[in-house]
Amino acid sequence: MNTPVITPHVLVIGGGPAGLTAAAELAPRVDGPVLVLEREAAAGGIPRHSDHTGYGLRDLRRVLTGPAYARRLTETALRAGADIRTRAMVTHWAGDRAVEVTSPEGRFRVEARAVVLATGARERPRSARRIPGDRPAGVYTTGQLQNAVHLHRRQVGKRAVVVGGELVSWSAALTLREAGCDVALMVSGYERTESYGAFNLGGRALLRIPVANRTRVVRIIGGPRVRAVEIERLDTGARRTVECDTVVFTGDWIPDHELVRTGGLELAADTLGPLVDTALRTSRPGVFAAGNLLHPVDTADVAALDGRHVADQVRSWLAVEDSPAPGVRLLAAKPLRWVSPGLLRPGDPAPPRGRLLLWTDEFIRVPRVSVSQAGRTVSERTLPWPAAPGRVFRVPWSVVRGISAAGGPVTVTVR
Ligand SMILES: Cc1cc2nc3c(=O)[nH]c(=O)nc-3n(C[C@H](O)[C@H](O)[C@H](O)COP(=O)(O)OP(=O)(O)OC[C@H]3O[C@@H](n4cnc5c(N)ncnc54)[C@H](O)[C@@H]3O)c2cc1C
Repeated sequence: MNTPVITPHVLVIGGGPAGLTAAAELAPRVDGPVLVLEREAAAGGIPRHSDHTGYGLRDLRRVLTGPAYARRLTETALRAGADIRTRAMVTHWAGDRAVEVTSPEGRFRVEARAVVLATGARERPRSARRIPGDRPAGVYTTGQLQNAVHLHRRQVGKRAVVVGGELVSWSAALTLREAGCDVALMVSGYERTESYGAFNLGGRALLRIPVANRTRVVRIIGGPRVRAVEIERLDTGARRTVECDTVVFTGDWIPDHELVRTGGLELAADTLGPLVDTALRTSRPGVFAAGNLLHPVDTADVAALDGRHVADQVRSWLAVEDSPAPGVRLLAAKPLRWVSPGLLRPGDPAPPRGRLLLWTDEFIRVPRVSVSQAGRTVSERTLPWPAAPGRVFRVPWSVVRGISAAGGPVTVTVR
């Protein structure tokens, strides 16, 4: 039997904030259909099961809960004329801008003139973090926990240990409280909890959660359900056991980059997402990327604004189908872990929101950002906001203004 083929003008893979916003911008402005493929039962991405407020500030200029935000972006994309197909998982490529899709109705192929990858990022589960010990039930990532509690109304345990101290870790703590599960301890490897000071203070005061900094989980104990975790102080090696029946691994993000890898698109070695320029072009002509696939992870409004930015670039490509000028690599040096976008081309637009996005492994209260090319310092700038692990550090794009298109790789660092 022949595989059915759909031929939209633009295919958007992933119906989260980035993909839905790109589709909403594109649908009324291109001369052909815009199709969004989403593997879950409903569009909306992570906010769909993140049932607390804090979404939409920069893109919608209001603050909504995750589910309300997800509904709103979905409705906006539909009203704009985008076709959204759910339970449709893109499994692999069938050409430069063509993919194979599996859905309950059967398999089909999509052949588009342009593709936007917006598949997001996920937290590394326990297995990828190589935590030794037993293999009992009751171990989650935040995404798994929120899916279980908010979408499937499942019971979790009564006493949890949350591993990580990022914004998302407090989101996990809120979900646990809602599910009737106390947080016995939050464990962070850093000197100070990674989240914003206000969240740390507020979280500790309102949720009354004790936090163990410079500490890691070294063993999970139990069976068939978690009974305890063993934790270790990083500075002294001292160990103790904390009784709990639930463990939530938070943060430690990895882009959902399977299609990037299997398609042979160039991967950025630092973010592990596709390498893109400031127009969010990948290494394959006509294939673009947006959202947390590029910067694991920033907030949903930043992902949505990537979607707005990429829509203009997709329209330019559809009009001309030109090849961009050669670019120079932008690389992050320690204590920075990654920078996005990772490619600078002469004549390209500024990146979304005029910001470079970076990730630091060290807390620096008053960071001085330094950009260099071929051993020469191009610019130095002191910023009034801190660089902190566990959240994106945003830097004005103007710091790379003085670079030369022929001068070789550019390095950005902070001290
Ligand atoms: C627990 C938690 C709490 C958070 N709290 C906040 C908050 O309060 N405020 C805030 O602004 N941000 C918050 N965030 C961050 C926010 O959710 C993300 O920034 C945002 O969802 C990123 O959007 P995205 O479109 O890039 O990716 P996602 O939302 O991850 O969407 C990607 C979509 O692609 C789909 N997909 C992936 N692969 C395929 C495939 N092969 N085929 C078809 N579909 C595919 C996925 O199913 C998913 O729906 C939170 C995140 C988490 C995990």
